[in-house]
Amino acid sequence: MVIIILFFVLHWYLSLFMQTFLQHRYAAHAAFSMSKRWERFFYFFTYITQGSSYVSPRVYAIMHRMHHAFTDTDKDPHSPQYDDNLFSMMWRSRVVSSGIYKQTMNVEPRFLKNLPDWPLLDKIAHSTVSRLAWIALYVMVYVWFAPSAWWFLLLPVHILMVPIQGVIINWFAHKYGSTNFVLKNTSTNLFKMDLLMMGEAYHNNHHKNPSSTNFGVRWHELDPTYAIIRLFNRLKIIRVHRLVAVPVPAVVPILGEVAPRAEHLG
Ligand SMILES: [Zn+2]
Ligand SMILES: [Zn+2]
Repeated sequence: MVIIILFFVLHWYLSLFMQTFLQHRYAAHAAFSMSKRWERFFYFFTYITQGSSYVSPRVYAIMHRMHHAFTDTDKDPHSPQYDDNLFSMMWRSRVVSSGIYKQTMNVEPRFLKNLPDWPLLDKIAHSTVSRLAWIALYVMVYVWFAPSAWWFLLLPVHILMVPIQGVIINWFAHKYGSTNFVLKNTSTNLFKMDLLMMGEAYHNNHHKNPSSTNFGVRWHELDPTYAIIRLFNRLKIIRVHRLVAVPVPAVVPILGEVAPRAEHLG
């Protein structure tokens, strides 16, 4: 049982860290820079940790830049405003990311600048053989170590790790929660202190300042990924160009308050 819990926790946090550190803050927003060698290392590590649900950092970055440019509009690749439920939103995100990867979708040139890229790794990692091999590995771990069949209920989370972590932010942090900043979009902060999503849940703060390395702005809004970024910066693994301090508004909003909808929405 200990091994299964450890496996689940490690898989959750390592894949999430690669999502927020490499795919989101580095690839999409260029919040810091690193050498090509380190980029390749983290790119490969993203594949290992995300396994069956791996998304190319390049594809992730393009899709995410579209989300920031078109938040809450019909061009947003994922928005609770345009999808009836979170499963249909997950499916639409999958269609968009697949269109970007296969180049069957038209992408504006402004979203294609300064992206990490490793076509050979992406080709292997996006293949059905690779995805099935990872799923087989997850099943084997459970067959060997799960004390009862009930634990197998956790398997879908391993298999769909990246879209599940994505939907927590893209659905819930555009629907519920509180706001620090009044923005022309529905982004919210999900938790007072975000240890579950490693800082990603301060989504309203992030929409206010997308290129900031620190997603927390209030004293209690600890951002675990930012702590690791600072450590990596000190170890010279990455280079942070600016550590942006976002001014916090004086009025503390009431928990549960949701940002106003975009004005163009009916
Ligand atoms: Zn958002
Ligand atoms: Zn972002």
